[in-house]
This record gives sequence, C-alpha cells and structure tokens, in this order.
Amino acid sequence: MKEKLTIKNIILLMILIFIICVFFFLLFVRPKLILTYNNLNIDSEITVELNNTFDIKAHLEYLNKDMKNKIKINGNVDVNKVGSYELIYTAKIFIYKLEKKIIVNVIDKIPPTISLIGNTESNACSVNSYVEEGYTALDNYDGDITDKVVIENNVNERIYKVKDSSNNEVSVTRKINITDTLGPTIKLKGSENVYVIQNGTYKESGYEIVDNCDSNITNIKIENNVNTKEVGVYTINYTATDSSNNTSTIKRYVYVYNPNTAVNMNGSEKGVIFLTFDDGPSTYTSKILDILKKYNIKATFFVTSNGSDKLIKREYDEGHTVALHTATHSYKKVYASVDDYFKDLDKVKTRVKNITQEDATIIRFPGGSSNTVSKFNKGIMTILTNEVLNRGYHYFDWNISVEDAGSCANKKSTSDKEKCIYNNFVKGLSKNKMNVVLMHDIKSYTANKLEDMIKFAISKNYTFDKITMDTTQIHHKVNN
Ligand code: ZN
Repeated sequence: MKEKLTIKNIILLMILIFIICVFFFLLFVRPKLILTYNNLNIDSEITVELNNTFDIKAHLEYLNKDMKNKIKINGNVDVNKVGSYELIYTAKIFIYKLEKKIIVNVIDKIPPTISLIGNTESNACSVNSYVEEGYTALDNYDGDITDKVVIENNVNERIYKVKDSSNNEVSVTRKINITDTLGPTIKLKGSENVYVIQNGTYKESGYEIVDNCDSNITNIKIENNVNTKEVGVYTINYTATDSSNNTSTIKRYVYVYNPNTAVNMNGSEKGVIFLTFDDGPSTYTSKILDILKKYNIKATFFVTSNGSDKLIKREYDEGHTVALHTATHSYKKVYASVDDYFKDLDKVKTRVKNITQEDATIIRFPGGSSNTVSKFNKGIMTILTNEVLNRGYHYFDWNISVEDAGSCANKKSTSDKEKCIYNNFVKGLSKNKMNVVLMHDIKSYTANKLEDMIKFAISKNYTFDKITMDTTQIHHKVNN
C-alpha cells in the first residue's frame, strides 16, 4: 500500500525535521564559561603570591557573542593573607545554568632572613664551646620568628636555620675558628695583701685556675722570694700557661713587718679617713648611722655584746664593716689567757655571724695592741698579736684618737667635750698617711659632734673608707 504525500504529511515531516534540528542544536551548541589567568585557561585552581594583585578573566560565549555581563561571582580573596579561597562563577542563559568553582591559593614565597649579632666569623676552643652572641629571624609574613631558629654545629661552623609558616627556609652560617687566644684566669685564694710578722711563716693560701679551653692547667710557675727575716714588701708572681701558650700572671703582695715599728706599711690609703667606732652598739649608734648615711660614708664598727642586734644588722645592711672587739671588753677576762681571749672573741663573732651570716675577720684589741693594762699577764699581747694573724684575722689599732673615752671624757661641760674631740680629730688628720680614727659610738657627744667633724674633713677634700681585709693594717708598738 502506498501512502500519498499529502500536504499534511509534508508539514508533519518538516516539523519533525525541525524538532530534530533544534534538538541537535541544543545538544551541540551550548554556552561556554571560560576563565583565564595570565592567558591560560584555569582548570580548578590558581596560585597567587602574597600581596600581589591578580586578574581572572571570565568569558561567556554563546553563539559567538560575549555575554560577560551575565556572569556573577561569589566569594572573596584576601591577597594579604595566606590561604585558599573559593570563587564561584555562575551564569544563566536561556535554559542553561553554568557554574565554575576555582580555588585561589595565596602563598608566601619570600623566605625569612636571619641576622647574626656579633661577628660572622668567631674564635672559640670548639664549636660547642662557642658562646652564642645572638641572632634574630624576621619574616615578611610571620614577623619575628627568632624562637623558631634551629642551630646545627658542624666541625668549624654553626648553621642557623629557620622556616616560615609557608615552609620557606633560610640558613646562614657563622664560621668558628678553632683557636684559643685567651689566657687562663687565676684567682687567688686568701687575700691579695698578706701580712706576716717578721720571723714568722708565710702560709700560701693557694689559687684556682680556670681556662676557657683546657680543663686542667698544669703549667704553673710561682715566683716567691718572700724573706720573712727581713721587713719589706714582697711580690709573689703566679703565672699559668694554657696548651695554646696563652699566659696569665697575677700578683700577691706579702708585707713582712715588725709589729713594734710597723705603721701604714704601703701607704696606698694615704689621705683616706677610716672612721672606727668601738664598744657599741648603743643608743647613740642610730644617730651616727643616720649621719654616715647622709654623707654616704662607710665606716667600721668594732662591736661587743652591747646593744641591740637590730643596730648591728643596720650597720651591715648599710654597707659598713662589722668588726669584732670582744664580747665582754673586760680586760681581766679577755687578757687572762690566750684561751680566754679567743673564747670571748668567739662569742661576739657568733653574735655577728647570726646577724649578718658572715664571718667577721677584722678585730681590734680592747685597749689596742699597745695596751699596758694587760700587764697582769706578762707577754699576753705579744702572743695574741701573733696568734690572731695566724688564725687569719687582721687587727687594727689607730693613729688618731679623738679621746672621747680618754682625756676629753673628763671635761666638765658637754660643749667642752665636743670641742675637745673635734680639735683632736682636726689636729690628727694628715694627707700623708692613712687616718684611722678611734671613736666610740657609746658616747653621746661623739654622735653629736660627728657631723661637724665630717664637714671639716670634706671641706679639706679628705675621702672616707671602711676597713676591709685589703686595708693596710695599722699596728701599735706592742708593750706587753
Ligand atoms: Zn674599746
């Protein structure tokens, strides 16, 4: 059976063909959303350097027409902050919905910098013994990252490495020359100035040697020509040499003296006033301390078992020397025997140690080493003056007495007493000697007149100091 090509059929056929054409057209001719960055098509992500601007170009093509204005962008990128950002491009055309997601990675590619403090080339005994001079690490993005620096030691270099938060790494090197240019350090045990009585024995107190490279220094020379038979000042030289032949020398001075003639043996304290206060503390001590504080003068207090601990503590805390005078100050007791003397001295020594936590080693004999009141025990002062030195004490007499416990104490009026001690002070001072001034902080008029005496000495350009173990001892002639 043959069908006829009717007009109706032709129209139906054409519609069918048209529908097929539209179908294929829609199938193959679709709009395209194209993203480019630096003229390259973006697939799914791009990388941008920190703080740089960037420009993504978006095209929407459909039937050869650019329809850029139909594109919408969602999302944000902060180029000043390292991170991954999502941008979504969408467009709607006709029946088509287009969408493209891309990731923008903002990265930091600039490495940190490390700055070395000190020389980039240093000397040390070994890399391990090099004492770090310091360094800083700064990053454009992270800021100060010094605490992230890792140090590696090689044979003769030190490598400093650091990574920033984006893993950019930097390393700098400090060259370490393995050499030793420093001599050993010699430290004397005992005093730098040693006093030995004529015909006595010099006792070496020893030394300590520390070297920056060598753990044990054995090359030590000691030149000692001390002749205790002859009065004089002797120098002992200690010389130590390390394995790199660096040498150091230190000196100790030994004063061999005759206690019957010795006064101011080296004269290094010429023109210096050493104010000394005996027999305290007492109720007048705080006034004396106030005056000393006002003029910033350090003095020496030869204390007994008198007065309150608080005053001794104050003497110590305010930088004065707390020295020992014996506990009882009773001539009969302290000069009864050598044992009695040291028992009494130990008593006040213990008192002071409990207050200051320090061993006092500076002493003054009641009545001075020249006293004759001890003659009831013949020769006791000759024995004691030697024995205290043997036991490591330094004893101090005086060469100026203001007579506040002597002749001035007998004056009738207070003002006469004050005048008397002031005159003795002024008369006694000399720029050609050290001035060790004997006073007593148990006397009201001494406390009252002290400021005037200090003012006079300052006006004459005298300086003040306290007695220490390095102060030249001043000894009277022993009379018993
Ligand atoms: Zn006394």
